[in-house]
Amino acid sequence: MSLLPNNLKKISLFLERLPGIGEKTANRLAFYFLRLPDEDLREFAENVTDLKKKTKFCKICFNLTENNTCAICQDDKRNHSVVTVVETVLDLLSFETGNIYDGIYHVLHGKIDPLNHVGPDDIKIDELLKRVKGSAEVKEIILATNPDMEGEATAMYIKSQIINLKSHIKITRLAYGLPIGANLEYADYMTLKKAMEGRNKF
Ligand SMILES: [Zn+2]
Repeated sequence: MSLLPNNLKKISLFLERLPGIGEKTANRLAFYFLRLPDEDLREFAENVTDLKKKTKFCKICFNLTENNTCAICQDDKRNHSVVTVVETVLDLLSFETGNIYDGIYHVLHGKIDPLNHVGPDDIKIDELLKRVKGSAEVKEIILATNPDMEGEATAMYIKSQIINLKSHIKITRLAYGLPIGANLEYADYMTLKKAMEGRNKF
C-alpha cells in the first residue's frame, strides 16, 4: 500500500524514471509540485503536453526549435562561415553557455558506433555534406565530437567525406587535453595523447 495519494504517487513514480533521480528526490519534487500555484502548474503541464508537437529540428543545423530554423542560424551577427559539428544539442548548449563561440553549428544527433549498430546513415552526416556542398559561405568545419573512440571515428569519417567534396575547406578538431588542475600521474593515455597533440606555442 502506498502512503501517498494515488495521483501524487503517479507523479513521483514518473519523476523517478528521470536520469539521476531516486525515490526520495522524486517524492520531494512531487511535494514541491503540490505547493506550486495552480497557474504555474497549468503552464508547466501545457508545456509538457506540447513538447513533442512544438519541438522540431532546425532545417539547417538540426538544433531544436519551434520554427523552421533555429535562433542561431537566424542570427546575422554570427559568423556563418564557421560550422562546429557536435554530437548532441546538449553539446551545443555547452558552447553557448560558455559564450566562447560565434559561429554556427551542425548537430549530428549521435556518433558512428558500429557495436551499437549506428552507421553514418543513422546520424545527420549526409545532411552536413549536402549543407557544405550547397553553401559557398562555409570556410571552416570544426569537428567537436567527443574524444572517445566513436567520436574520433565519426570525426575521421566526416573529414574524409568533406575532403572528397571540397578540398579547400579548412577542417579542424578541438584540442582536447588535461583539465585545469589535473595531475599528469592520474591522466589516462587518451587524455595525455590528445594534450600532446593539441599543444600550443609557449
Ligand atoms: Zn539551426
